[in-house]
Amino acid sequence: MSLEPHHNMSLEEMDKRSLFHPFTSIGDHLANGPRIMSSAIGVHVTDSKGRRYLDGAAGLWCVNVGYGRQEIVEAMTRQAEALPFFHSFTSMANEPSIRLADRVLRWAPDHMSKVFFGNSGSDANDTNIKLVWYYNNMRGKPAKKKIIARNRAYHGVTIGAGSLTGLSYCHQFFDLPLPQILRTHSVDQYREKPEGMSEAEFSAYLASELEALILKEGPDTVAAFIAEPVMGTGGVLVPPAGYFQAMQEVLDRYDVLMIADEVICGFGRLGAPFGTTHFGIRPDIMTMAKGLSSGYQPISASVISNRIWDVLKDTSGEVASFAHGFTYSAHPIAAAAALANLDIVEREDLVGNAAKAGAELKGALQKRLGDHAMVGDIRGVGLMLAVETVADRATKRPFDLSLKVGARIVAKAYEQGVIVRPLGNMIAMSPPLTLSSANIEELVTGLGRAVDAVADELA
Ligand code: PLP
Repeated sequence: MSLEPHHNMSLEEMDKRSLFHPFTSIGDHLANGPRIMSSAIGVHVTDSKGRRYLDGAAGLWCVNVGYGRQEIVEAMTRQAEALPFFHSFTSMANEPSIRLADRVLRWAPDHMSKVFFGNSGSDANDTNIKLVWYYNNMRGKPAKKKIIARNRAYHGVTIGAGSLTGLSYCHQFFDLPLPQILRTHSVDQYREKPEGMSEAEFSAYLASELEALILKEGPDTVAAFIAEPVMGTGGVLVPPAGYFQAMQEVLDRYDVLMIADEVICGFGRLGAPFGTTHFGIRPDIMTMAKGLSSGYQPISASVISNRIWDVLKDTSGEVASFAHGFTYSAHPIAAAAALANLDIVEREDLVGNAAKAGAELKGALQKRLGDHAMVGDIRGVGLMLAVETVADRATKRPFDLSLKVGARIVAKAYEQGVIVRPLGNMIAMSPPLTLSSANIEELVTGLGRAVDAVADELA
């Protein structure tokens, strides 16, 4: 131990020496070092070298109200001064988290009943797994435990949520997934819907596959199905028409709970309050995070329906307490930030703007890149969009992943002053919901030039 500060060390060196970055190639990082962000305002962030970027990713799909919102800063400061922390175990409470639970339920569908707060989307999904298991134990169905998740899903990285995630790179070398997790198809209309099949037929097929899986496993062993309304990290995959209705019919038939992972879609990103609202899903549990506080503080929520709450309430006498929760569950500063964030979303009608700006951004992308030789598909809902690159448009042949086409486009976009995210050969966009027409032009111009530059390199 030496408490002597490293006065002469650059931040880049200090980072490489000390900071273990999530989802980062250790080799690349040690070779190239960090890109350090220093400040941000509106939809723009500025790095430590003074370069300014339009943040077309809203951080990690989360800064929905944009940066530099003084009223959130002030709400957090006021709460830190009054009560920076108190826990919510053993009936303890604080005002902002009570008000936030009430507010979340006003946003949520009417049959949702209670809000359990956590700190991240991952821990909320772990909470959900435990809730499903607990619910079935308490109602005398201890064998009903398996949870069905989809290929290419992203539900987080903790041991439970990471098992629900359906991306092999999140499992490999981590000894995941857990055995109780089953998998069904994703909803890749571009690559998996056969030529000539309608969306309704594709939905019926996916629902029949779900039913076959439940029957094979035994309905008495299957507890829940979890889905992102629009799949995010798996490639911004929009379900075919009628998908959730067809899936829910099957779930209802076998008494299987529906968990809607609204971590990205929730609070307006799709141009509707939730993905659940947009697609007419009837969830038993909803996972929320990101847009709940726009990332100004870490906070998540597991929201449960009346039917789950009733079982928990009616069996409460059988246990000393509901023995689950985190030190920072219902954290007062995080709740204060989330309340101020939702004030902005409501006052500025950012849900409406997500619909309007989303349609405009999709149209502009289609105009600039729709006929590009390297672009196979442009898709999304509201302000959750992706461009899928291809080596051959006619055959949809993907680029070899070793060419790192997505990452190269993203690097060129940085040079153009635009931040977008690579998902394999796809480029994802999820800008703040405040996006204006001028911002759209800036984003599409930068991305268009980046795609052209990589196409030239590959020619
Ligand atoms: N669920 C979805 C749909 C997500 O997109 C994410 C993160 O991107 C998570 C869960 C995990 O959230 P966190 O990174 O806060 O643990």
